[in-house]
Amino acid sequence: MDLLIVGSGFFGLTIAERAAAAGRHVTVIDRRHHIGGNAYSEDEPETGIEVHRYGAHLFHTSNPTVWEYVNRFTAFTSYVHRVYTNHAGVVYPLPINLGTINQFFTAAYSPDEARALIHEQAGEFDPKKATNLEERAIGLIGRPLYEAFIRDYTAKQWQTDPTELPAEVISRLPVRYTYDNRYFNDTWEGLPVDGYTAWLERMADHPRIDVKLNVDFFDETQPLHKAATVGQVPVVYTGPVDRYFDYAEGALSWRTLDFEEEVLHVGDFQGTSVMNYADAGIPYTRIHEFKHFHPERADRYPSDKTVIMREYSRFATRDDEPYYPVNTPEDRAGLLAYRELSKGEKDVYFGGRLGTYQYLDMHMAIGSALSMWNNHLA
Ligand code: FAD
Ligand code: UDP
Repeated sequence: MDLLIVGSGFFGLTIAERAAAAGRHVTVIDRRHHIGGNAYSEDEPETGIEVHRYGAHLFHTSNPTVWEYVNRFTAFTSYVHRVYTNHAGVVYPLPINLGTINQFFTAAYSPDEARALIHEQAGEFDPKKATNLEERAIGLIGRPLYEAFIRDYTAKQWQTDPTELPAEVISRLPVRYTYDNRYFNDTWEGLPVDGYTAWLERMADHPRIDVKLNVDFFDETQPLHKAATVGQVPVVYTGPVDRYFDYAEGALSWRTLDFEEEVLHVGDFQGTSVMNYADAGIPYTRIHEFKHFHPERADRYPSDKTVIMREYSRFATRDDEPYYPVNTPEDRAGLLAYRELSKGEKDVYFGGRLGTYQYLDMHMAIGSALSMWNNHLA
């Protein structure tokens, strides 16, 4: 073995694929029973509808290197992601665009009129100087739209005071003064034609890649555990960085999600793939309806059944799957302390969403793995 990779998500598999292609022998361990990390999907058995096990995953990127790389393993459908939100029993398009604004204010504003209105309502904060999510959001869209579409959804999603959250969380959502309601701004987007798991398996399918599932790096009863490998072989670690150091600098805060899946005996439940619920009175943040991700599979999917998944968000305990780094000021201080500790670990490379405590989309995880391979490991 030339390299041990802890975690078979997109970060770990990209390193594994590159290393194997360069002639190295790689072992990938994962504590789960399947490869692919949070991007893993499987067909729901009663309906055959592909369900993203850890929440809906939409691939999008503007990075030509990443786009060329991922196309080696899968083709992509022409799916374009659009999200709607239910506020006070009325459905509006997201991200906030001219359609949302005109529907909300029951108006027919032109782009310039809408801009002038929002400018007037957003005056209390300058989004460029905003230091937290609330200031950035109000600075971008004004207080009325913030209170309708952002405040309570964000409270459900993060259970953290929006003045404590980093402004970047909301910068992911564009605001548009056109009727364009594409969720992402990227050059390329789509879903893997044969599903996520087929894509992930193709990345791992190489005679020099050995994947071992149900193996936990911290389980000292298995031979590839931390004390037995660090210092003996280069290690790429994509698990939670605080766990690696046994929480020596305190636990970083994460959010986890609970998913409530249901097969419904109706052909179409909500007419679209993702419906957000903006209001505090509804305990879940959104409902995914998976058949809408693949309209091209209409002849394969049942016309009288559908699979929906309600998503609930809460703070993660150490026993939960960590999904979203919360990134409060205390977390950022903790992360710096862990980065210092990491420098003392001989030949251990921390990567991926958990290993760097960063909100990385798939294309970012793949892009940073390609950089780590090219710049440090190759
Ligand atoms: P992960 O996929 O988390 O993989 C880490 C792996 O390490 C896991 O398989 C885990 O089991 C394993 N591991 C951890 N600890 C150990 C241990 N001690 N021993 C052995 N193995 C261990 N990205 C997008 O581009 N579009 C989206 O729409 C999107 N939606 C998302 C929705 C949700 C709910 C979440 C959580 C993420 C979403 N992402 C999305 C991000 C996407 O999941 C990540 O970018 C991608 O999975 C990153 O891969 P990774 O390898 O860094 O981490
Ligand atoms: N957000 C919101 N209302 C919405 C959708 C998003 O307030 O209807 C905020 C919320 O704080 C969320 C952030 O915007 O965490 C980013 O949203 P995105 O849909 O990108 O989050 P993800 O899909 O990663 O959960």
